[in-house]
Amino acid sequence: MIILDLEWNRGYDKTPLDEILQIGAVKLERPVGPIVSTFCAFIRPKVHKKLNRTAKLLPEVGASLGSALDFPTAYREFVRWCGEDTHFAAWGCDDLDTLAQNCAYWRLPPLSIGRMSDLQTAFSLTLGTKQNIALWWAAEYCQVPDSFTFHNALHDAVYTASLIPWISPEALELSALDRRALRLLRPPFPPVPDRPTGPHPTLSAALNAKDSRRGTCPVCGARVWLQSWHWRDQGCYYTVFRCPRHGRFLYRLTLASGQDGRWRGTLSLPPVTPPLLASFSEALKGQLHVCQGGAKRRRRPRRRNRKKASAPTERLE
Ligand SMILES: [Zn+2]
Repeated sequence: MIILDLEWNRGYDKTPLDEILQIGAVKLERPVGPIVSTFCAFIRPKVHKKLNRTAKLLPEVGASLGSALDFPTAYREFVRWCGEDTHFAAWGCDDLDTLAQNCAYWRLPPLSIGRMSDLQTAFSLTLGTKQNIALWWAAEYCQVPDSFTFHNALHDAVYTASLIPWISPEALELSALDRRALRLLRPPFPPVPDRPTGPHPTLSAALNAKDSRRGTCPVCGARVWLQSWHWRDQGCYYTVFRCPRHGRFLYRLTLASGQDGRWRGTLSLPPVTPPLLASFSEALKGQLHVCQGGAKRRRRPRRRNRKKASAPTERLE
């Protein structure tokens, strides 16, 4: 696993680029294992002429300004250093997004990412909080000795690696999932009975049917029409139901065609478990069916200040 950290400069000019000033990374033998190799490259900025306030405060910004290395050269060296390893991790999601942005700017091939673990989310999950925790705070909380200055990409990658043993294995596993799946983590809720759907003449009709789309909040009983289905494996479809008062819940629809060629299935609100979230996370990479017909959307009022505005979510009568 490779832990990546970047320092960058968001310029004041019109070019929308968070220009990378330093790439720091450490390679671990295994997720909870020793550091076996390190990478550090200070990069001379070429796009923005001025540094923003945050970049000016970087402890080693002078090393970037005095560097002979440009981003394309540093990036190619970094990719060579990564080798076959495609499991990346970082404190938050910003670093890999910024790296992708710089690659696109310089027309370089994007990093080949097999698996991405967001260790900031994993740390929050371990602590049972939904807040994003700063790296320095996490290091202080875990009493990691502050041997190096923060905001040097290599040092921050080392600090991030030193926090992994504090993260629960389950949270580490979950942190590789799509963020939309992680938002569904919640305490247990009262069970809602499964509902049969069908028979319907086609798969599309089954996905669009009213009896496949009646969502109910398990806490307050509020009902909302389900609007779309994510799916990767045929037969299993997911959607997120959002109760305005109680948040997001994950609905699953399973469908199969019988000997008569008609489609029947079950609509359920299963308990939230890591395997369920992993399955939904996979479905998010697959296809999306936007439901049509049946439950009609109400027309939005034309004028915003009209007093009798219809509800933003469509309710069942
Ligand atoms: Zn509710």
